[in-house]
Amino acid sequence: MTGGFVEALAEAIRQKGPISVAHFMAAANAHYYATRDPLGVAGDFTTAPEISQMFGELVGVWLADLWDRAGRPQAHYVELGPGRGSLAQDALRAMALAGLTPCVHFVETSPALRGVQAERVPGAIFHDDISTLPNDAPLLIVANEFFDALPIHQLIRGRADWHERRIASQGRLFLPVADKAVPESLIPKALRDAPVGSIIESAPASVAIVTALTKRLGAQGGAALIVDYGYDGPAIGETLQAVKGHSYSNPFDAPGKQDLSAHVDFATLGAGAALAGATVSGPVGQGAWLRALGIEARAAALNKASPTRAAEISAARERLAQPDAMGTLFRVMALRAPHWPEPAGF
Ligand code: SAH
Repeated sequence: MTGGFVEALAEAIRQKGPISVAHFMAAANAHYYATRDPLGVAGDFTTAPEISQMFGELVGVWLADLWDRAGRPQAHYVELGPGRGSLAQDALRAMALAGLTPCVHFVETSPALRGVQAERVPGAIFHDDISTLPNDAPLLIVANEFFDALPIHQLIRGRADWHERRIASQGRLFLPVADKAVPESLIPKALRDAPVGSIIESAPASVAIVTALTKRLGAQGGAALIVDYGYDGPAIGETLQAVKGHSYSNPFDAPGKQDLSAHVDFATLGAGAALAGATVSGPVGQGAWLRALGIEARAAALNKASPTRAAEISAARERLAQPDAMGTLFRVMALRAPHWPEPAGF
């Protein structure tokens, strides 16, 4: 089946010409996620909610606190790309303890993962994209390792000009080529004189989603929590990466068989949200945010409840929060309706 996908993609490129990196990434990831559950030790990569229940619980505590200070309105829990549904399950349990029992909406395109999510969170309502989310109440939105999976474009510096990078095919091989020159006005001023071969990435699909969510928050109330690995761009550097079986490989090999992702440009996403009217908090490092939310106390409570798991709980806490693990590469940013209270942890 994957063979069929690779051949069809190569054939389409042969017929219509090289496709943008964004087109390649979107097609490859759609096939990849549709045909498997990639998460966990037996899969290709492990995410924070799969490391420990503490992650989702603290997200739930964060949302419940914000909701409480907003006057405890009726609200919808919305998760973008919920994976195995673990984060939602842990967050919903923590929220329920605080009296928050929202309607659950999952924005998910993968039929395989929808199946796993429906088992974990019975009653969740599925959406293909954010346009069908309800508009009758505040939205409590969570996106962990979602934006990194969305398509990015790449521009590469040639001898005289900048060019969009496109993907050509040769048999079953895919390789990046430089397309015709783009106007210099598309390149941020500070980056225009970068050395030959430099690469800049942009993620218009991500900015469009953040802008649309911000408009919803402004009209309906609520907040969004975005957690991902990232940087403050625009900047020189290629971050597109492929992961298979917990190791890195060439992103242009084997489309649909490995996870493609790119680091998230938090500065550009935050600026897009602010422009659309959101009040933005962060980004701050995931470690600092988790500590502010009380990960130490949560780990101590779990230890007390199951002393035989002490080593495992302590290792998970360190992996989530230590600077040499996920504590600083991963960042947390919040958007909210300007009339909503300031969120905790920033
Ligand atoms: N949030 C989860 C899973 C991260 S993997 C976790 O932290 O464990 C990325 C998730 O986003 C998967 O559920 C994948 O199927 C979903 N996804 C990827 N591209 C998507 C898109 N364009 N629209 C909706 N969901 C998407």
